Order: sequence, then structure tokens, then C-alpha cells
Amino acid sequence: MRIQEPNRAGSGSSPTETVVSVLMVGVGGQGILMVSKVLATLCQAAGLEVKQSEVHGMAKRGGAVFSHVRFGAKVHSPLIPEGEADVLLALEWAEGLRWLHYLRPEKGVFISDVRRIVPPFACRDRGRGVAPRYARSTPAEIIGRLGTGYALDATGIARDLGNERAANTVLLGVLSTALDFPEEAWLEVITRLVPPKTVDVNRAAFLAGRAWVENAVLPEPAPEPAPPAADPLLGRIVNRLEITRAWCKGCDICVKFCPERCLALDAEQIVVPTDPEACTGCRLCEWLCPDFAIRLHKELPGEAAPAGADAGADAVGAAR
Ligand code: SF4
Ligand code: SF4
Repeated sequence: MRIQEPNRAGSGSSPTETVVSVLMVGVGGQGILMVSKVLATLCQAAGLEVKQSEVHGMAKRGGAVFSHVRFGAKVHSPLIPEGEADVLLALEWAEGLRWLHYLRPEKGVFISDVRRIVPPFACRDRGRGVAPRYARSTPAEIIGRLGTGYALDATGIARDLGNERAANTVLLGVLSTALDFPEEAWLEVITRLVPPKTVDVNRAAFLAGRAWVENAVLPEPAPEPAPPAADPLLGRIVNRLEITRAWCKGCDICVKFCPERCLALDAEQIVVPTDPEACTGCRLCEWLCPDFAIRLHKELPGEAAPAGADAGADAVGAAR
């Protein structure tokens, strides 16, 4: 969804005459650093001075990551003061909300994926059917309060293009409509910086982000979210783990973080479920896997997996 006309950061003057501040936020493994590198490289190629500051050293997979990028004729500080970000680009919805106070009032542009990733440490109660704690504000409520805002399912768009990990490039496409650089310059830098085998999908993702802005609509008034009702089927739900072996690089993150210790690496260093009965369906493994190699499906007993869903994948179920 989008509200009002697109606002170009530093509009009315060329980027060389003003300092433009772009704050990028998200969680570990989403590709924030690649996105900020693309923007910084683009600015340098345009002959602008760029200052970049990022924090990622403390962020384990799933922890907060942010990057400040400032560019213009002369940039004195790499850090964006509160209330002075011309663009806030969020790869994760709650992280976007957490940094909203950095956005320039009225003129700032907010761009966010609506994807929700609950940080591991917010997942304190892992019992059956317990909703993880998360920001309650809906995209329509937030976008409705801002001068220019975009909330989109960038992950879904990237998934439709064949690679969820290109969600960050979809958001770059949206970002490109708020900054004064030619489309070709963006594409040239993206082609140079992404892994060679993902060039096509990243170019497509960038163009899809730009096209999304063209077709974005004003939000409908948000209906009141219904309070979560007790689910009578809950006791019959089966947790089924789908592991795409070809994508697992054996990093061990899911094994280490699984609170129930029901995953392990096999002899080929690929993750396998070892105790499916113990799996509570908390989804930590799915959220933390940097390679999208593990997915959790909640199904009713006897419900057939979608055709081809488990091609090349391990699946295992446990009633919950
Ligand atoms: S499934 Fe993902 S997190 Fe787990 S070992 Fe494989 S690559 Fe790492
Ligand atoms: S296998 Fe995944 S979903 Fe199941 S308990 Fe472990 S981390 Fe949670």
C-alpha cells in the first residue's frame, strides 16, 4: 500500500546540492549490508561523497542490523540524527517501526517489507498455540500516519520470482523511485555486486519493486484485527518440517537455536530432524535459516503436502 504521491528525497535540488540520508534496518541474514553497499557504490559512481556506518557485529542471525548511508557534495557525519532520515528502508516490519522516529517528519519516505520475523529472544513462551509477541500496528495504520509510505510483501514478490532472498532487491527497486539515480545505473551496480548466478533474479526483483510502486494504491481503512480465538483444531495440528537439502549449507544455526534440540547435521553436514515428536512448531529454525532451507508446515493429520512440496526435501511430522 502507498499513501500520497511519491516523495523524492532531496527533491527540488540535485543530489549534489544536498545531503541525503538513508537508514536501512532489518535483521541478520536479510541482506542489509548488500543493499547499503549497492547504494553507496551507486553514489560513488555518480561522483558523490558517501559516508556509511553499519552495526552488524553483535547481530547473530535474527538479531538487529542497521546501516546509515549519507551522500551529497560534502558529508560531515556518517550518522543520521533522529528525525533526519530522508528514507527509512526496513527489511522487516517491526524493525521498521522501531526506527520510525528517525524518519524526517512529513517529508521522510518509509519503505518496508511486511514480512514479520520474531527475534529469538521475543519467543519466550514456546508452548502450543502461543502467539509470539510482536508489534500490533498494522501496515494501514502506520502508512496512514506518514507523508509517503510503502508497505509491501517484498518477500512474496521475490518468492514468486524464484528466490525469496531477493526480497532486499525488491525493496531496492522501491527505494530507487525515491532517489534521483537512473534505472540503468542501479541495474549496473546490482549486476556487479550480487553473486553471478543470482544476477537475473536480482535484476527482475529490482524491476518488480519499481513496477510495484507504479501500481501501488492508497490503503483501505484497516479493519479492527479480531482477537485471536482459541483454535479447536490446535490439538490435532501436525508440525511438518520441510528441508531442502540442496540449499542447506550445514551452518548449524538451526541446530544450535532449536529450543527442543530436535535437529542435527547428518554425515553430509545437512540438517535432519532427529526428534520430530519434540518439535513445538515455534518456527525458530525457519526464521533463522539464512538459506531458507528449512520450513515448517502446520497441517491437519492426513492433509496431503502440496504436490512437489517435498521434492528433494526431508519431511517429518509430529502431532501437536
Ligand atoms: S537448514 Fe539452514 S540454518 Fe540449518 S544448517 Fe542448513 S543452512 Fe544452516
Ligand atoms: S525444529 Fe524448528 S520449529 Fe521445531 S522446535 Fe526446533 S526450532 Fe522450533
